[in-house]
Amino acid sequence: MIEMLRKINLSRAVRTMQELFPEEYNFYPRSWILPEEYQLFSTQIRLAKDSDASLKPTFIVKPDGGSQGDGIYLIRDPSDLRVIAGSQTKQSVVQEYIHKPLLIDKLKFDIRLYVLVKSLEPLEIYIAKEGLSRFCTEPYQEPSQKNLSHVFMHLTNYSLNIQSGNFVHSNSLSSGSKRTFSSVLYRLASKGVDIKKVWSDIISLVIKTVIALVPELKVYYQADIPPGKPGPSCFQILGFDILLMKNLKPVLLEVNANPSMRIEHEQEVSPGVFEYVPSPVDEEVKVGVIRDTLRLMDPAQRKPPVNRDSSDQATVFQSSTVQFWSNPEQQQEEMSVEVGSPEQGPGEGGVLPSLCLKQVFPKYTKQFSYLRTVERITALFLRFLGVKGNMRLGPTGFRTFIRNCKLSNSNLSMASVDILYIDITRRWSGMLPESRESGMGLQAFVEAFFYLAQRRFKSLSLREQVVSLLEVCEAQLENQVGGGPGGPLAEDSTSSARRSVSCSRTQPGRTPHPHYASTTSQALLAPQLYSPAVQRRASSQDYRLHQRLRPPQTHKASVDN
Ligand code: ADP
Repeated sequence: MIEMLRKINLSRAVRTMQELFPEEYNFYPRSWILPEEYQLFSTQIRLAKDSDASLKPTFIVKPDGGSQGDGIYLIRDPSDLRVIAGSQTKQSVVQEYIHKPLLIDKLKFDIRLYVLVKSLEPLEIYIAKEGLSRFCTEPYQEPSQKNLSHVFMHLTNYSLNIQSGNFVHSNSLSSGSKRTFSSVLYRLASKGVDIKKVWSDIISLVIKTVIALVPELKVYYQADIPPGKPGPSCFQILGFDILLMKNLKPVLLEVNANPSMRIEHEQEVSPGVFEYVPSPVDEEVKVGVIRDTLRLMDPAQRKPPVNRDSSDQATVFQSSTVQFWSNPEQQQEEMSVEVGSPEQGPGEGGVLPSLCLKQVFPKYTKQFSYLRTVERITALFLRFLGVKGNMRLGPTGFRTFIRNCKLSNSNLSMASVDILYIDITRRWSGMLPESRESGMGLQAFVEAFFYLAQRRFKSLSLREQVVSLLEVCEAQLENQVGGGPGGPLAEDSTSSARRSVSCSRTQPGRTPHPHYASTTSQALLAPQLYSPAVQRRASSQDYRLHQRLRPPQTHKASVDN
């Protein structure tokens, strides 16, 4: 999980989903991976500025694997990127900076929500009804050359802002530099904000993000815990960092695999004397998350997945139950959550408090299962992976996949298949220099799959092409008794997705916009138009399958050019 949630991996996973479902995944800021996409980043920004001289975008640079704001800085132009070792930029993600966040008391803040991934197979996700809101300690101004380095204005990290003289510790849950999310919602509700919609959008963002992460996680998971064998139950509490834009749209900043569960903070009790003192806000939020995780995971109590939330139990929350719709356009199953008041008390008479973790998946399966397309590709990948513990597909496995799915024909010879394998695998191993295992990883396989789908079903949208090819492959494999080298046809989790996928849901194809979006919201609404992956794939359209392709550009070459 830690590996998956490094900034680069998260960006890649979301980006793959953005290619298939651009509108559904428009909650993640446009991002480029450095150093490999430096050239693309710099060209796109230069073109955008050339076409609109008034454009003054800001970007945030985040080192891969960094946390607590370490090494993060803002820039206004690609030439401002800091370089290491003379010419290279560090492995990092550079991202469109959301310059119009929602402010409270003139301060920028973000939301930390705890999410329990209780199980991967079947997928079960719970969201904590209460979260933290972490405030900056310097009034916000839109980025300008003068204030770019003001971390207390632009970065909401607790670990940074605690160092500011303006940090306000408070014993109240609804004031100070760290508050409960519900107290923020109450405040917004009092100003007329539709907080049901805010919650509903957040739930949707969380489910979609987990759906983006599941494919790769399954590859890691089966390498350690082969399917069909009794093994340990794995679960994880994730920390989602979310920013609300001024228009109340939630934006995913990052997901932490190892969120802090501290319920105390360091305080200077007398000059020079520091002590750990309880932090009521942290306690309010985190104790419930741990308690409920243990309750839900307790093997002695293991029951089939429940569609239960605290509304059907004796509740200690002074709460208002609100009904949410994930998407007002589609009449979907309602999404509801209880918004706890800031005054929640302990359970009565030794009875445990009602669950603060709310199940959102499989509860809302219907709305989201059509997004699980990459998981279906992953099921094929795992099936042909073969050797236990392996995470990369060898050339023979790839050939077997092509042969068993009957994808080779007069338009696609086995020789071309080998070249495709070599080309994509080589390019991805250049992008993942730290990986020691050779062969085709899942992301490379997904790219190859997209390519094959585009080749075979020319006139459709990418999503339709991919779904059509999946149907071809799945139909072929279902006819083959006994499964492939990877074992049985184990696709329970995605079979419902398969059933619910229909090409009629597909958006009509779009014509790429030539210009860089001039506002964040515009850009967020149309990430597919600018996605570097789309560009990469566009250039991969001209794989010449009967010749070797150019070797991939090295990182150094990208930066030097
Ligand atoms: P870290 O893991 O180092 O905390 P984050 O991605 O969470 O890295 O970023 C740190 C902080 O920077 C966030 O808490 C948020 O305040 C701010 N931030 C991050 N990305 C953006 C963005 N795209 N737009 C605006 N602010 C951002």
